Amino acid sequence: MLFKLQDKHIKEMLTKLFKNDFKTSIMAVACAFVIFANVIALSAAEKPVPSLQGKKVLYVMGGWDGHEPKQSAEVFVTWMRSEGAEVTVSETLDSYLDAELMGSLDLIVQIWTMGKISNEQEAGLLKAVQNGVGLAGWHGGIGDSFRDNVNYQFMVGGQWVAHPGGVIDYSVEVTNHKDPVTKGLKDFSMHSEQYYMHVDPNVKVLATTTFSGAHSPWIEGCVIPVVWKKYFGKGRVFYSSLGHVMDDFKVTEAMEIQKRGIRWASESKYQPKEEWREPVYK
Ligand SMILES: [Zn+2]
Repeated sequence: MLFKLQDKHIKEMLTKLFKNDFKTSIMAVACAFVIFANVIALSAAEKPVPSLQGKKVLYVMGGWDGHEPKQSAEVFVTWMRSEGAEVTVSETLDSYLDAELMGSLDLIVQIWTMGKISNEQEAGLLKAVQNGVGLAGWHGGIGDSFRDNVNYQFMVGGQWVAHPGGVIDYSVEVTNHKDPVTKGLKDFSMHSEQYYMHVDPNVKVLATTTFSGAHSPWIEGCVIPVVWKKYFGKGRVFYSSLGHVMDDFKVTEAMEIQKRGIRWASESKYQPKEEWREPVYK
């Protein structure tokens, strides 16, 4: 469609080039170039996220049982393997100490709510991501792990602080319709925990949620990010606050966002760095 449009425009411009005066011709050529550049930029930004075919993934599960780490493996490890990924499943943070394993990875998916991480384990994880291993996760699995570790939180880009009212009805607003992770998706409803998070203002936010104030009146109308992407060193980091329990991923959009985010994060070593810096406080 876009290319057809572009061809038609260029034909019109070229017709003018031969029929009209010199000034009009120069403008026509300039217009053609602008259209060309826009089409190329658009197709690069809208390129769909590739599959996990051939990717090396470490799936680390543990921490608080309420977030269903073991059940999550049945959902996500099964799916990643079906995409052709080579997945190593680990139930210990000691995997982050294995320098050879960490250096061989494309992606780490972690579901580890709360718990403790040693300085050495944290250093292994952070170093791998800085060197270009992607990190993807959801809810408390990466957004409420290791509360004592600020460097870990610096990497993730946000930390859970409250879910007023517990499991409630709320909506998710898809705010970025161009990014491949949320492209084509409409706003949707959840019956789950609505995460109120402290978020790094430099992440690229793709979806948000608005608090009604029903359970904490002073936050009525507050808008908090739900889905974001960012970098930590060379590594891509993807986060969605959806997924308190595995049933939450029965919501089509929640699952689709998570799958696309995992795929996006797995590409750190193969794709050029994306730029989106838009300082919100400037
Ligand atoms: Zn939860």
